[in-house]
Amino acid sequence: MFIFGAAFGSFACCQVWRIRKKDKSKWSHCMNCKYRLQWYDNIPILSWLMLGGKCRKCRKKIGYAEILAEVGLALVFVLSFLLWPGQEASMRLDVAEGIKFALFLLSLIIFTILFIYDAKWKELPVSLMLVETVIAAAFWGVCLWQSYTTTGSYDWLSFVLALVFLPGLYYLMYRVSGENWVGGGDWILCVPLAIMLGNAWLAASCLFISNIIGSVTMLPVAIAKKKKKMTIPFGPFLIIGFLLTYFLQGVILNFMSI
Ligand SMILES: [Zn+2]
Repeated sequence: MFIFGAAFGSFACCQVWRIRKKDKSKWSHCMNCKYRLQWYDNIPILSWLMLGGKCRKCRKKIGYAEILAEVGLALVFVLSFLLWPGQEASMRLDVAEGIKFALFLLSLIIFTILFIYDAKWKELPVSLMLVETVIAAAFWGVCLWQSYTTTGSYDWLSFVLALVFLPGLYYLMYRVSGENWVGGGDWILCVPLAIMLGNAWLAASCLFISNIIGSVTMLPVAIAKKKKKMTIPFGPFLIIGFLLTYFLQGVILNFMSI
């Protein structure tokens, strides 16, 4: 899982630049001197460390996003495997759970691209969020099937409320404030997140956790810069809030039912 995660983290980083520069070239290359990367320059984590984060030819710095994405996604892949909800069930050879896990990992790769893109340019590529929404819908379809085959019912109200709490609320804030409180991309990103959580309590907790982490992280920055108004990329916080909520869903739902 670690190796897979690192490899896809490297892939995600590459896609960030390809989307930004609308680059369709076949081979990866240095953006400064156009040096074409060889296979030994493309080994996740190791190549970056051996090159000291610099281009092999022109020695221009590559940046930290690459190594952070590779190590970060490697760790999240491992965590996804270890903390996957319903471990007992997935111990059996369960095709539906396997499909869900694969779709979840695929979503993680897209989230990594969105995370870096938003952190770098305070922007979220809409086309990629639409792709993610299709993946989320497929994920939800399997959840729906699982629910009907095991319990014979599905909590539609909770699902609809999840959409109201996350994308609904963000869309409202975006419209009311004229993009002053939340950016236009944030509410779209909330659509696949809410669909994958599929539960009102989990959507509310994702909203809560994202905002807490966002405030705790950005408030000291705002104070240090003496800014009363600043634009912060909120996508990364939403993604972190989503992951924490997803992995801790057992604890959260238990807590809510008391
Ligand atoms: Zn170079």
